[in-house]
Amino acid sequence: MPKVYIIDVTNRDGVQTSRIGLSKLEKTMVNWYLNELGVFQSEFGFPFTLHETNYLNANLELAEMGVLSPIRLEGWCRAITKDVELAFKLCPKIRHLNLSISTSPLMLELKFKGKMTIDSVIESMVKAVEAAKKFRAESIGVNAEDASRTDVADLIEFAKAAKEVGAARVRYCDTLGTDDPLTIYERMKELAGKTKIPWEMHCHNDLGMGVACSVAGAKGIIDGGQDAYINTTINGMGERAGNADLLSVLLALKYASGLKDKNLFPGNINLTKIWDFAKYASYAFGIPIPVNQVGVGDNAFAHESGIHADGALKNRRNYELYDYEELGRGEPELVESGRMITVGEYSGIKGFRNVYGNLEVEFKDDKEAAEVLELVRYANVNTQKPLTKEELIFIAKYPEQVRQILTVQPPK
Ligand SMILES: [Zn+2]
Repeated sequence: MPKVYIIDVTNRDGVQTSRIGLSKLEKTMVNWYLNELGVFQSEFGFPFTLHETNYLNANLELAEMGVLSPIRLEGWCRAITKDVELAFKLCPKIRHLNLSISTSPLMLELKFKGKMTIDSVIESMVKAVEAAKKFRAESIGVNAEDASRTDVADLIEFAKAAKEVGAARVRYCDTLGTDDPLTIYERMKELAGKTKIPWEMHCHNDLGMGVACSVAGAKGIIDGGQDAYINTTINGMGERAGNADLLSVLLALKYASGLKDKNLFPGNINLTKIWDFAKYASYAFGIPIPVNQVGVGDNAFAHESGIHADGALKNRRNYELYDYEELGRGEPELVESGRMITVGEYSGIKGFRNVYGNLEVEFKDDKEAAEVLELVRYANVNTQKPLTKEELIFIAKYPEQVRQILTVQPPK
């Protein structure tokens, strides 16, 4: 039976979005949370982009150390040989790539100004995959940008060429969020059935259907006999109206009436981690979680009207589809209301010792404490927000990799 896998693209699509960004340390924490959650793969950045290099290489090292494992870290490139070669030059240890190129006649005409045809697009993609294989990439996905406005026949040709040259998957990008669940189900079933290669759903939310299209498309791929991959982002962050929200996709796979008995929920996902992750992402992005956000909004388990409150108190199943405990909610959370010591770029050793003492982190000697304090100062320069408990512990545990992550030097 084919399976569904999650490929989260927060660290690529999420952060490339207008007015939405993360520091390199925060991107690292997103990878860490995704791994804790049991997500299959993180599209962790742009390996051909100079300011990403130290972050990407340090994260690849953390993967080798088993810290960011078993999650796969995969980089996004344009499907052109030049990008792939530069990616492996800057990040020699990278093993997973997704290579992207537009396939729709509209974009060929309006973006490439008619200089590319579907045949030359396929040729560029094939050459890029060949280049990635030469550098011993372990898995290569190829992305059909604007797939929803591309003829199925062209997508089949694109996918068959990708399969022949050794790509593992094809990404169906609903780049403008123009698909609907009924259409995308049929298209994906046909594409999977005719190409015999796994497909990835990459859906945007311009019509408010990003999640619905993602799960409907995945179901189409499964019914077409192939593994399905779904692209998500935490809290639905992404270009314009956003991408498919990670938690909404997972809950839909688990609880939607037509999906829940199909065994599509990825087995290694531990949903109890999502509450902390969603809150961290909101803090790091500086974007509040909407009150009615699926599962993690303030109102997701709140009841006030007489009939609803009465029903929920009698039995939660009257008005709650799933349990808040399942999402890691319900534990009391301590908020300091008196004196608070935080650490930041101008902190000294006494305050630093106090904060780490409360986290029960010990240092073997003063030298080690001084080194971590220096890193904490730089980390705060990087994030410009009080560091979270998880960030502070991460810095103390992996100081060498954090030093590399924090090092960003523009070329001369
Ligand atoms: Zn996108």
